[in-house]
Amino acid sequence: MANSGKSYDIIDHTYDVVVIGAGGAGLRATFGLALKGLKTACITKVFPTRSHTVAAQGGISAALGNMGKDDWRWHFYDTVKGADWLGDQDAIEYMCREAMPSVIELEHYGVPFSRTESGEIYQRPFGGMTTEYGEGPPAHRTCAAADRTGHAILHTLYQQSLRNQAEFFVEYFALDLIHDVDGKIAGVMAWNLDDGTIHRFQSHMVIIATGGYGRCYFSCTGAHTQTGDGSAMVLRAGLPLEDMEFIQFHPTGIYGAGALITEGVRGEGGYLTNSEGERFMERYAPHAKDLASRDVVSRSMTIEMNEGRGVGPEQDHIHLHIEHLEPEVISERLPGISETARIFANVDVTREPIPVLPTVHYNMGGVPTNYLGEAVQPVGDDPDVVIPGLMAVGEAACVSVHGANRLGSNSLLDLVVFGRAAADRCAEIVKPDTPHPALPNDAADKALDWLDSRRYADGPVLTADLRLEMQRTMQAHCAVFRTEEVMAEGVEKMAQVWAQKDDLKVNDRGMIWNSDLVEALEFDNLLQQALVSIHGAINRKESRGGHAREDFPDRDDENWMKHTVAWLNDDGTSRFDYRPVHGETLTDAVDAVPPKARVY
Ligand SMILES: Cc1cc2nc3c(=O)[nH]c(=O)nc-3n(C[C@H](O)[C@H](O)[C@H](O)COP(=O)(O)OP(=O)(O)OC[C@H]3O[C@@H](n4cnc5c(N)ncnc54)[C@H](O)[C@@H]3O)c2cc1C
Repeated sequence: MANSGKSYDIIDHTYDVVVIGAGGAGLRATFGLALKGLKTACITKVFPTRSHTVAAQGGISAALGNMGKDDWRWHFYDTVKGADWLGDQDAIEYMCREAMPSVIELEHYGVPFSRTESGEIYQRPFGGMTTEYGEGPPAHRTCAAADRTGHAILHTLYQQSLRNQAEFFVEYFALDLIHDVDGKIAGVMAWNLDDGTIHRFQSHMVIIATGGYGRCYFSCTGAHTQTGDGSAMVLRAGLPLEDMEFIQFHPTGIYGAGALITEGVRGEGGYLTNSEGERFMERYAPHAKDLASRDVVSRSMTIEMNEGRGVGPEQDHIHLHIEHLEPEVISERLPGISETARIFANVDVTREPIPVLPTVHYNMGGVPTNYLGEAVQPVGDDPDVVIPGLMAVGEAACVSVHGANRLGSNSLLDLVVFGRAAADRCAEIVKPDTPHPALPNDAADKALDWLDSRRYADGPVLTADLRLEMQRTMQAHCAVFRTEEVMAEGVEKMAQVWAQKDDLKVNDRGMIWNSDLVEALEFDNLLQQALVSIHGAINRKESRGGHAREDFPDRDDENWMKHTVAWLNDDGTSRFDYRPVHGETLTDAVDAVPPKARVY
């Protein structure tokens, strides 16, 4: 119960492993660890089944071939190409090969997938998923439970966790990592939102599974809880994040509201039109059309709007049609989006098109890891030095399987494949019940100093106002298309936001359900990641996947086929290094795909 002079009583816990986050990735890791007999705590700021994974609609990819010929090597090829050759091919091989057993495992755990006539898992086409190494027709590869796949998966994973007696700390807000006397990561500090107590979790391994940080933008499809807290802890521990400039805009967020309309809609035959009623994707991607990958579709829509062919009085959005689909297809396969379109756009999808706009959706970047889930960083000549005591999985991680652009339905897959891989790796390197090293007396101080600095913040600026300034800056200055000039202005504006971060005003000084304080802490986390993202974007002088520079329109493999690794300096600037892309596969079961032009 030592607290080194701070005004908090600290409640101590020791575990073999602590998982921060109870989305798909955190839960898959958690019950995998419990199955392996490791004493595991899962800490989550929201109730597990409220994690953003619950909102995933379209599905999870695996080359099961239930609805036409398929091959995991085609899935591998599509993912390498979708990633615009910034993905690590060893990790991509691992993911695509493990996809089939992972999805069958989910089925056996109880995920209520939609079914084909013959009773197999229903699979729909998705953007960038093809057959015959890109030469054949679209693959039916995305396994779906109607348009509520994430909901089905998350609930099943939570049930499995309960069944395996995993221990949960629900509505605990993880603050910061702690280190042992040798400086090794040794656990995490957390605040119990419900009763206001402070907890110190000591563990041999910390697994970050805190999801993405989409909320640093004004308009995003993600939950308000998507503030990337774990990745920010990694930055504050003096460790780097990778490829943060790669931010995915989903083509079909509802105009105004930002709520997602799944790509599964286009997989079921939906299409986009401009103000002239033209199906313009046929011009940009003659082969894949509306099912080209997301970066391609988002850019095409933006060009249409910029050239005056957007719909509406401001010509600032695009129409998505499903009126032509059979009503049974809509009610059976897409019930959720019909409801979403009615609520958020006041549209009856059986009669009229849905107004849509490219909207921030996914962070390709995150904590750099290898395919076992272990966090890595470059040290000296070695780009892949494992950071002892730290792992990351899910959207918080950059394995990197998604490279410069993630294919739809590959994220749910990433969660379960690497959630399990991390649990398996822990079982190899963590011995149950081994004693914990000594902690320095001030182990908790950094986290508690930060908490206090915000709890007692009494400046002139409201968190909501400064957050809005950051979100608008990122939206306008780090968008679908980017130029040096616009981003330089953005960097300047973000520096001004950073300069005001210690002038915040927090009104509530309490410790019980203090959402004012939670938002102030989350804002700090967002700001740190927004900075390394925009700095990374201005630093990368090429166009690749989700990073489209008008002033450098081509991909530059000679100079830029490498991962950005970014550290945040104390003054709010960034420092960069690079890691080579793994161009080799893990085994000889599949051939590496050498870089070539990316056309759909
Ligand atoms: C609307 C929408 C639809 C999508 N549809 C699909 C799809 O069809 N197919 C697909 O493959 N992908 C889809 N995606 C992407 C995919 O759903 C996400 O990338 C994925 O669910 C992220 O899972 P995760 O486990 O990494 O994190 P999340 O599910 O975001 O969970 C994060 C967890 O971390 C916890 N946490 C965060 N900060 C703290 C803290 N400080 N202290 C304690 N706990 C903390 C939270 O409580 C939560 O439990 C979609 C995304 C969105 C937004």
